[in-house]
Amino acid sequence: MTSLREAQQQAGARLRVLPHAEAELEAALLLCHLLDKPRSHLYAWPEQELTANQMRQFSQLLERRLSGEPLAYILGLREFWSLQLEVNPDTLIPRPETELLVEIALTHLDDSQASRIADLGTGSGAIALAIGRERPDCHIDATDLKPQTLQTARSNAQRLGIGNLEFHLGSWYSALPRGAHYRLLLSNPPYIADDDPHLCQGDLPREPRAALASGPDGLQAIRQLCADAPAHLEAGGWLIFEHGFEQGAAARSLLQQAGFVEIQTHQDLAGLDRVTEGCLPAPAQAVSQ
Ligand code: GLN
Repeated sequence: MTSLREAQQQAGARLRVLPHAEAELEAALLLCHLLDKPRSHLYAWPEQELTANQMRQFSQLLERRLSGEPLAYILGLREFWSLQLEVNPDTLIPRPETELLVEIALTHLDDSQASRIADLGTGSGAIALAIGRERPDCHIDATDLKPQTLQTARSNAQRLGIGNLEFHLGSWYSALPRGAHYRLLLSNPPYIADDDPHLCQGDLPREPRAALASGPDGLQAIRQLCADAPAHLEAGGWLIFEHGFEQGAAARSLLQQAGFVEIQTHQDLAGLDRVTEGCLPAPAQAVSQ
């Protein structure tokens, strides 16, 4: 018979072969997933014995993880902005860096004014749901190219009871309701170069490629987001997007070319360029004689 403590220790030792994995933590999370119990259960009942059937299931979970399946897909969940989001191989796994984008976006929302916001390429719905939870008075349009991805975002909204979101299928701005103008356009677009070796590391090989890679320099989606944004923003509105740590200068220059002002790049907790924003100025008034 194997106790919870032993099972966790043995699994932790096996998971240590995975690069970039927090082996002990992952072993605990897999065990809790199997038992459908919170982490505190492992501390409270370390001597509890696993049945033969549970041992078999646990070793299947371990094999899946050891074969490179991301922990978030095995658990079917990932926390973002304190929201438990359902994730699956049709959605990018939300990253903590993206919470920076949410923080910046919230600073541009007037407390006393309900605004219209778009999240382009919403994936699991991470950005849209975080903003929707913080600002129930605002309306958020969330888009995605794939119906199954949009369905996951929609079911996350339903499960979390966040009702101020609408979901639209389609590519970038073309998915948005015709004629709508937004206070904020937000996106965590794909921004990795097609041949970047990072695509072969960690969880990335199992995540949707279209959510990660974007042309030879990784900037294809960002170029389109910047160039077409002015037609969808109200005057004084902001485009805010995430990008790679070496793309800050390119992001600022693309915003400048599209007519944006007050352009600024923000660094993530690791001190790396991660999010760039720009404001669309009001059109210059025609000078009357
Ligand atoms: N907005 C989602 C996230 O940040 C999905 C982004 C994407 O698929 N590139 O997790």
